[in-house]
Amino acid sequence: MQIQERFMEQLSISSYQHWYYDADLALLRLYNDDTDQLYLKYIPIGTFSLTSETWMWSWFNDHSFEPNKDSTLAVMEFGLENDYPKLTAGTFSADKFDCWEFTAISLATLGGIGVYRAPSEKLQSYLLITAVLEENSQEVIHFNQAKVECKIHGRSRPAFFCQHLNLEHPKGFEEAFETYKGMELGEDDDFQAWCDECEKVRIRNNGWNEYAEEFAKIKLVCEYCYFELKSFNCH
Ligand SMILES: [Zn+2]
Ligand SMILES: [Zn+2]
Repeated sequence: MQIQERFMEQLSISSYQHWYYDADLALLRLYNDDTDQLYLKYIPIGTFSLTSETWMWSWFNDHSFEPNKDSTLAVMEFGLENDYPKLTAGTFSADKFDCWEFTAISLATLGGIGVYRAPSEKLQSYLLITAVLEENSQEVIHFNQAKVECKIHGRSRPAFFCQHLNLEHPKGFEEAFETYKGMELGEDDDFQAWCDECEKVRIRNNGWNEYAEEFAKIKLVCEYCYFELKSFNCH
C-alpha cells in the first residue's frame, strides 16, 4: 500500500502519542502537545472489537455519529457487485488482517490520503484520512471550541441560556447576536439566549447587571440543544 507508506512517513504519523476525534466534525487530532499536532479530516470505515473479535462497518454502526459515515456504502456496493460477503454484511467475526484488507479496499474505493487506526482498550477504530487541515482553518477552530459534552449530542461548543427556557412552553428567544446552526464564532463570542421575561428585566436594569443575572440564572448547554431551544421558543 504505497499511499499508506507515504502517508505514515511524510506526516510522521507514528510520532504522535495521543489522538482525539470529534465525530460530529469527522475531525481527528493527533498530538504530543499544543505545539506538536496534526488535524485530519476522516471518514469512519469501521471498528474492530478486541473483546468479541468482530468487525463492524460504520454504515451499520448506530454508535457512529459521523455525518459522512454513509460514504462507506460505496464499499458495500462494490461488495455486492463483486459478490464479496464481508463487504456487504454489517458485522461478523474477523481478525486484524481482515481489518487492514477492509481499510485498503475502502481507500481504493473512496480515495483518501491514508488510513489511521485509533486504538483504545477494547475497540480499534479504522479511519480513512481524506485531508490535512490547517490549524487556522474554521473547522479546526470549531473543533477546539468544542468543550461541552452533551449526553444526547456528544461534544460541541458551549452555549448559554436562561433558566426559564425549555421545550414545554415557548417563552421567546432573545439572543446576544443573530445566530444560525454551525456558524463560525469569534474567540470571545458565545451562543447566548434568554426569554422575554429576562429581556424585560435586562432592559429595566439597563443591561446585564447582578440583579438581571440572578433573575436569568444562565445555564450551560451544548450548541445542538441551543438550536432546539431556539426553534421551539422563537416567536
Ligand atoms: Zn429567562
Ligand atoms: Zn445537546
